[in-house]
Amino acid sequence: MTSTTTQSLVDGITSWMQCESPTSSPEGLARMVAVIQSYALEAGLQATETSFGPNVGPLLHISNRADGDERPGLLILGHSDTVHPIGTLQDNPCRIEGDRLYGPGGYDMKAGIYLALTALRDLAGTATTALPVDFVIVPDEETGSHASRPHIEAFAACARYTLVCEPARANGGKCVTARKGTGMLRLSVKGRAAHAGVQHEKGRSAIREMAHQILALEAMTDYARGVTVSVGTIEGGTATNTVPALCRCVVDFRLPDLRAADELVDKMQALKPLGPDMELDIDVEVNRPPMIKSDAVVALLARAQDSARHAGFTLEDAPMTGGGSDANFTSALGVPTLDGLGADGDGAHTLQEHILVSTLEARLNFWRHLLTHLG
Ligand SMILES: [Zn+2]
Repeated sequence: MTSTTTQSLVDGITSWMQCESPTSSPEGLARMVAVIQSYALEAGLQATETSFGPNVGPLLHISNRADGDERPGLLILGHSDTVHPIGTLQDNPCRIEGDRLYGPGGYDMKAGIYLALTALRDLAGTATTALPVDFVIVPDEETGSHASRPHIEAFAACARYTLVCEPARANGGKCVTARKGTGMLRLSVKGRAAHAGVQHEKGRSAIREMAHQILALEAMTDYARGVTVSVGTIEGGTATNTVPALCRCVVDFRLPDLRAADELVDKMQALKPLGPDMELDIDVEVNRPPMIKSDAVVALLARAQDSARHAGFTLEDAPMTGGGSDANFTSALGVPTLDGLGADGDGAHTLQEHILVSTLEARLNFWRHLLTHLG
């Protein structure tokens, strides 16, 4: 038997998943944001959009602040974008199989937003939240939150806590208290083109040089310390019979703490060409600083665990994850941040993405309790 609460959560989340909103579709994101906005407005919450121009979706700020209430509040973060291109629904429609509700972008993270916002709506008419709530939903998290980051940081600067609706970890619904920092290196190698048959000796192969650089980069991985370096994409050369003059690669790296970040960035910037007449262009940046489990985070976790107990489940935190999120930004500003408070399920970023229907009602009750008590 499905309770009426669970059924209405399933219906609401399904209708949100049916509104496709990949990061690359400003139109889809505008439609999604309009749906979320009206869901907030009809309960008497404030909900205002900020435009980032024609190429990015809009940011949505929902709040229950009374006029003139300037207290440091509770920042809730979500993202309206998904990794699934428009049309994914055709071959992968929203559907229930057993306890699983499948659909693109549900687990990551429309269901998480739906749960937190429904709790906030339920409290809008009857009770008040312990802190004024600013619920910020960004359109570009899956590509690094480049447009949203200054807004996230401005809200975090006047927040007492941040809660993030990213999915709960698979197999146990654990939340997230620590995330590695993430970075990106763009490396290009410039050599010299030559006819591969006629003047081979005059060529300087950028691909050959890059092969050496890749081995040096991948050797910077240190599992014991939690440092990983992965060359994700590579392109180079123009024709089979030309010694290649150019090669480029883009490298993903992850770091457990700021010291490791400094050391790794120094190593990358110190890369030198091995072959003669070669030039390296090195562009390296840490996009998201590491999210650290501080004492204040441990205290915040205890509050969330109490709310979970009231809602009938046990909430544990997962070991440090390699995936970054917007929690990295707020945490770096010293705001106690708890992440992975969204829906329970599995399969993020795949067509097997699903949420567990039987966990929805308890997670809604968890948010209600937390919003009421976290002061
Ligand atoms: Zn996400």
